[in-house]
Amino acid sequence: MEIAVLGGGIGGLTLAIALQRKNIDVTVYESAPQWRPLGAGLGLAGNAVKAFREIGIERDLLSEGKVIRKVVIRNKKGKALISTDSEEVSRRFGVVNNFAIHRADLHNLLISKLKPGTVQLDKACVDFEQGSGGVNIHFKDGSVATAGYLIAADGIHSVARKKLLSDVETRYAGYTCWRGITDNLPAGFNQDETSETWGRGARMGIVPLTKDRVYWFACVNAVANDPMMRSLSPVDLLSFFGDFHAPIPEIIKRTNKIIWNDIIDIEPIKRFAFDKVVLMGDAAHATTPNMGQGACMAIEDAVVLANLIETCKSGEEAFKLFEEKRIGRTTRIVNDSWQLGKMAQWENPFMTSLRNMAISLVPKSVADNQFKFIYDVSLK
Ligand SMILES: Cc1cc2nc3c(=O)[nH]c(=O)nc-3n(C[C@H](O)[C@H](O)[C@H](O)COP(=O)(O)OP(=O)(O)OC[C@H]3O[C@@H](n4cnc5c(N)ncnc54)[C@H](O)[C@@H]3O)c2cc1C
Repeated sequence: MEIAVLGGGIGGLTLAIALQRKNIDVTVYESAPQWRPLGAGLGLAGNAVKAFREIGIERDLLSEGKVIRKVVIRNKKGKALISTDSEEVSRRFGVVNNFAIHRADLHNLLISKLKPGTVQLDKACVDFEQGSGGVNIHFKDGSVATAGYLIAADGIHSVARKKLLSDVETRYAGYTCWRGITDNLPAGFNQDETSETWGRGARMGIVPLTKDRVYWFACVNAVANDPMMRSLSPVDLLSFFGDFHAPIPEIIKRTNKIIWNDIIDIEPIKRFAFDKVVLMGDAAHATTPNMGQGACMAIEDAVVLANLIETCKSGEEAFKLFEEKRIGRTTRIVNDSWQLGKMAQWENPFMTSLRNMAISLVPKSVADNQFKFIYDVSLK
């Protein structure tokens, strides 16, 4: 059963590793002509770490990034509204649950685990068709590849999904986002804590990385695709975040380069499997980043798919079972993340005060149920 994977992102590369560990033939077709520098950080939760454990690369992963002790949500003045002891949660669930890594470091690690020649660059898929003999994949350069099965891990703007489900569109969440990394840390910066600070219509997250670096993201309510937002420099962002508690303004000022994009997802779809073709990762269930679960779900998908491909009689059967197994979980995460983002971006002063008070009163049992749902994932 030869498998073609579209997209050499986090999901596609993890899948290729998982398949190769089962001696299943796989080729990854990636549209980028060369690997691009990936200039932001990524938080990975226990479900992703567990999936990497399943394919034997947990140790390597943990050595490339930072395990963080605490997660805190603060108000604009810096008062902690809710705080979670990540080490205690890790002990309870038997897996590191608050881990941060530079995207480039994760990418390099995943590539290093593949057999040479697994990934073909500069192969942008433009079309495909499936028949009894397999799937023919057409590329922008005019070439065609044939495989038994096609797994589309080609991200939120998936060409494969557009062909299979032409009416599915991305949806704008109502807020735009900048991301940055700086290694010029302010004195006294707390490297043991991931935090989010919720203001009114503006929010900033801080995630320590290895090598005395910090990754941050900042979201502001805005109309879609606003050229003014696109043009802002780090210093310009102080008009939104200048009055946030220390060290937020200082971290922004100390960042040279930022990445900007509107926050979008796709409303949950009802089908991932299409005979010899299946959608996974963002192509199947792109989510807003509010729960830090997009990449985690792509990594889970990869491990589940590889396990099913190994045990099922055919790819068609594996893909159908994958859809049955994954659609409920991913739909719930996409919907919860959407709602969480709406609340985190509230602007109304009364509602934001009420929100902040309510967060500080959330019973431990509610948070525990959410951890259980996220970490107790079945990967078989
Ligand atoms: C601001 C922000 C912050 C985030 N933070 C987190 C976080 O902390 N934790 C977390 O878990 N997730 C986070 N995410 C989500 C995460 O980045 C994605 O969910 C994840 O990258 C999805 O992986 P993927 O492999 O499915 O898709 P992608 O990473 O998008 O990879 C798709 C790949 O397919 C390639 N491709 C595209 N089209 C074609 C084509 N036609 N032919 C061939 N190749 C193609 C692309 O070049 C790319 O390499 C965040 C997202 C955003 C926007």
